[in-house]
Amino acid sequence: MNSDLPPLYDPSALTEEQKELLGSLPFEDLIFRKLFDFIDETLGSYRCNHTFDLTTHFLKKQGVNFLEHRTYFTAHEISCDCEVISLLESKFPIDLNEFNRRKF
Ligand SMILES: [Zn+2]
Repeated sequence: MNSDLPPLYDPSALTEEQKELLGSLPFEDLIFRKLFDFIDETLGSYRCNHTFDLTTHFLKKQGVNFLEHRTYFTAHEISCDCEVISLLESKFPIDLNEFNRRKF
């Protein structure tokens, strides 16, 4: 899938923490990147109601059942959609593809 696209990250620029984070993801990192974009855009217009409603809704569209992965989020002390951004997105490495992806 998407093998014609350049890699998401520059492997030589990853810190040990970032490698560990990427190695422990419960589903594809690209889905996480799209989830961050979706929450960012949606919370630009609406306040977070401090539930996982947006995360659940978005992941369902990607074929991912949030409830099966809830422990991953709670293990990172994330308790709602805005904390997915504030506590998780900030730990991800810079996405080399982000600019290209946003054009689609
Ligand atoms: Zn919140």
